[in-house]
Amino acid sequence: MATRIRTAYIPDARTCQMCDDEEATYDAKTHGGPWAYMCDECYSCEGSPRNATRIIVGDPPERTDDDISRDLYAAIAAGDFDAAEDAIGDRDISEFL
Ligand SMILES: [Zn+2]
Repeated sequence: MATRIRTAYIPDARTCQMCDDEEATYDAKTHGGPWAYMCDECYSCEGSPRNATRIIVGDPPERTDDDISRDLYAAIAAGDFDAAEDAIGDRDISEFL
C-alpha cells in the first residue's frame, strides 16, 4: 500500500529545524524521534515518510466539483453522513447526485 502524505496549508513560512537554513517543506517525525519542520533535503535524510505532513504556505486551493463529488460518493459508500455533509459544504447536494 502506497503511503499517502497529507498536506497542510500554513499561513507563514517555517525554517527547517534540521539545517536552520532552508524553508521547511515537511512537518515530519525524524528518525531520532522528535517531530521537526524540515526542508526537502533534510527530510530525504532524516524524515520518516510514514509520519509526515507536506506543508505549503498559503491558502488551500478551491475544491473543484470533481473533488466534492468524489468525497461525497466516498462518504455515501462509507455510510458516513457527517463526512457527506462536510464534502458538500454550503453547496446543494442535488448538484452532485
Ligand atoms: Zn534542512
